[in-house]
Amino acid sequence: MVSYEKTICPYCSCGCGIYLVIEDGKIIGQEPQSDHPVNEGGNCPKGRNAYQFLYSEDRLKTPLIRKNGTLVESTWDEALDLIASKLKEAGKNEFGLLASGKNTNEDAYVLQKFTRVVMGTNNVEYCGRLCHSSTAAGLGPVVGSGVMPISQLDLESADCVFLAGINLKETFPLMARRVMRAKENGAKVIVVDPRRTVTARELGDIHLQLKIGTDVAVINALMKIILDEGLENKEFIESRTTGIDELRKYLSSLSLEELAETCEIPIGTLQEAARCFAKAKTGSVLYNQGVNQHTTGSDAIRALASLALIAGQYGRPGTGLSPTRGQINGEGTGDMGCLNVFYPGFQKVGTGAHEKFEKLWDVENLPAEPGLPYTKMIQQTKYMWIVGTNPMMAAPDVDNVREALKAKEFLVVQDIYLTETAELAHVVLPVATWVEREGIHAYVDRRVQKIEKLIEAPGSAKPDWWVVVEVAERMGYKEKFDFSSPREIFEEIRQVVPPYKGITYERLKEALGGIQWPCPTEDHPGTSTFFTEKFNTPDGLGHLQVVEYRPPAELTDSEYPYFLTTGRTIFHYHTGTMSRRTPKLDSEVSYAQCQINPKDASSENIRNGQKVTLRTRRGSVEAEALISEQVPEGLVFLPFHFSESCANKITNPVLDPTCGMPEYKVCAVKLEVSK
Ligand code: SF4
Repeated sequence: MVSYEKTICPYCSCGCGIYLVIEDGKIIGQEPQSDHPVNEGGNCPKGRNAYQFLYSEDRLKTPLIRKNGTLVESTWDEALDLIASKLKEAGKNEFGLLASGKNTNEDAYVLQKFTRVVMGTNNVEYCGRLCHSSTAAGLGPVVGSGVMPISQLDLESADCVFLAGINLKETFPLMARRVMRAKENGAKVIVVDPRRTVTARELGDIHLQLKIGTDVAVINALMKIILDEGLENKEFIESRTTGIDELRKYLSSLSLEELAETCEIPIGTLQEAARCFAKAKTGSVLYNQGVNQHTTGSDAIRALASLALIAGQYGRPGTGLSPTRGQINGEGTGDMGCLNVFYPGFQKVGTGAHEKFEKLWDVENLPAEPGLPYTKMIQQTKYMWIVGTNPMMAAPDVDNVREALKAKEFLVVQDIYLTETAELAHVVLPVATWVEREGIHAYVDRRVQKIEKLIEAPGSAKPDWWVVVEVAERMGYKEKFDFSSPREIFEEIRQVVPPYKGITYERLKEALGGIQWPCPTEDHPGTSTFFTEKFNTPDGLGHLQVVEYRPPAELTDSEYPYFLTTGRTIFHYHTGTMSRRTPKLDSEVSYAQCQINPKDASSENIRNGQKVTLRTRRGSVEAEALISEQVPEGLVFLPFHFSESCANKITNPVLDPTCGMPEYKVCAVKLEVSK
């Protein structure tokens, strides 16, 4: 018996609708969903090959426990009893939990509740720390909220789209289609990227090809031009912002020539971009990891938000500064409080949030101090629980991460494969994923959609939330984790996270394309545009920021003469865990190619296709040389999907002091032809 079942693509956070073709409990095919508002019948290569990873032969099917140094099969009871007894030994600040942007909201909610209620610590984080922690730190002081303030559908109405550090065509292909449609309607597209990516080539009208790591200098130059030429939106600035005098004074003290020299962009190109953005009726800014993943990431975001404010590009559909969280539930896992400084609903630790949740959860002594951020948690805790994320590929300076994880008193990893991280665990738990369980996700534009359970998980794999409930019960907290289904968890979420209050499972079943939070009541349609009348700051105003340019932490020198940057390709997803187990995607690109400019290749005697060693102060990896004009002289690009050429073995773990974001996007490297 064959059926066609609707679901949402498991890859990026655009949240495209697809149909799965299911025969006798097994998925045998898929088609894009033509009536889904996000993709309207389109899917990118990942979405067209969405389900094969589920059937990879190396899916985990049974719990594993390390005995005499080897992981051996066990029962769930044995594994859960062991976890509970070991975690009872942990002092509260000795424990840390890492969740994933692929967890459902229900999973994420119980994971953070377990960490706070049972383990008594705010040491809970998720991979969002490594992608968008600079967003929260950067946007908070300016507009009071770190979420996408519009609907992705409204990008079509923009007449200027500013893409900063985001290779939209490869990373959010269906959002790129919206921008393409805006272009067809006459919009201009400005691309800020040190590489001449496919986005810069095919979408961009103006390419600000900056020297890597100089984003703040570029944005200051644009703001200076706008203010010097009187192109700012005076009415908007007057009625909706503070800080213009300080900003104007600071920018007038800067020299445009020096800024242009710093970012290595001609003044004329900067002027063209500044005028285009300031004069647009509807200007939209999208940004991603090319901006975020620097020691100055939060600075650059404060500056970008100020740029949007002085141009009056906020508060209308299609405007504003939009972070683009990449994982399917990158937004929702943060909404649920899997962050060391936020209880659910972004209620900040240290502002009385713990007292509020003591009442809501009817518990005492919830932690009132911030927990450890992601990378410090790996280094400083003795007991860790890692759920659906793979720091052995995703964290910077992987060799150091391996040593820290190997030294753990106790490490539990819960995943769908024996990942590089799971291989180091004392206990490995097999879990259900995507359509093997039900739950909700919040996609890039706060679009809440529900995933239904359509097939059975392999072997004895269980949903993540079930594991947490079982461990909590064994540790004496049955009453506080008395959940027997995701629906029951979601009902509690609705009570404690106000923006989700009006969203129900029943409404999501009917709402094609989901509901954008905040949705305060059950008859509320959801909110597509933020900040229409005021910002989320205490005084409701946008706070313009003076931001000084600081160079990257690690610069080139005679020993390490090139800059290295990392990123993605359209055929793969993040650490490759799913896409590399999808034969069609892996056959498109099955190994790492590092892009080297022809002049640099010539001076290093590197030929196209040769194996090269990329060496930084952390270590070295090998990749195949792809000689390409996509990178300017002095810059080398390495994709981060390939464990055998693990980019994060050599990236710089130094952190943005404001938010703990590692500087993935720039470090110094040398190139050698491999022997
Ligand atoms: Fe899936 Fe994103 Fe591609 Fe849509 S754009 S099909 S959600 S990977």
